[in-house]
Amino acid sequence: MVNRNLFQRVLSLIYPERCCCCAKPIVCGKLVCDACYPGLVQILPPFCPECGLNKQDCSCKGHQRFTDGCASPFYHEKSAKSALHLLKFAGKTYGAELFSLYMAGLIKQAFGDVKFDCVTSVPLSSAVLQKRRYNQSLIIAKGLAGRLKVPYKELLIKKFETTPQRQLPAYQRSGNVLGVFDVLPKAAEFIESEGCKTVLLVDDTVTTGATINECAKMLKLYGVERVYAVTATASRLKDRDR
Ligand SMILES: [Zn+2]
Ligand SMILES: [Zn+2]
Repeated sequence: MVNRNLFQRVLSLIYPERCCCCAKPIVCGKLVCDACYPGLVQILPPFCPECGLNKQDCSCKGHQRFTDGCASPFYHEKSAKSALHLLKFAGKTYGAELFSLYMAGLIKQAFGDVKFDCVTSVPLSSAVLQKRRYNQSLIIAKGLAGRLKVPYKELLIKKFETTPQRQLPAYQRSGNVLGVFDVLPKAAEFIESEGCKTVLLVDDTVTTGATINECAKMLKLYGVERVYAVTATASRLKDRDR
């Protein structure tokens, strides 16, 4: 599961390879070093079909969801948390490869034979995008779209910046993202004209699911019929109310 393809091996002769989780140099052909690999905590079945966590960790009962399914390969802990941190805040975008690989492997297991019309990602506000210069979720999503052989489409826009969800208690998170996202005018045309009915929405991490829910709501308002969400990492119940 963690080997690179031939093209990437050739590339690695020019650019030395790094562990996706700790950024230390690594043996050619691997994505994760031997020290970090045991720290990748995978979410295992039985999955909750609503939130994608193992049923023991599910905290979504009774919440209204606009998504038709959610899944994440890793808990937001240890090595996956480090990889996401490097990807998001330290410009180590090669970490996206680890996530797109595991997400691609999970999709069929979690959602069955769903046929997606396109893959899209949760957008950043223009202020954050200007500062970071890339959207980590978009990089993961494009990698995933390539692996699934489904087109990637930019569908959503984040209209203004909000307090990061992790800085807020769970009960304030839905309100924090309410009305923040919209469908791009060109995307609205695309959804209507191309009959884009089933979308795979990608985000970097999920806490309460408020961001994903708000994005799914907007997509459905514009005519998308089914929204499945996949995130690189997901937090367990105990981390959700912080
Ligand atoms: Zn490592
Ligand atoms: Zn659940």
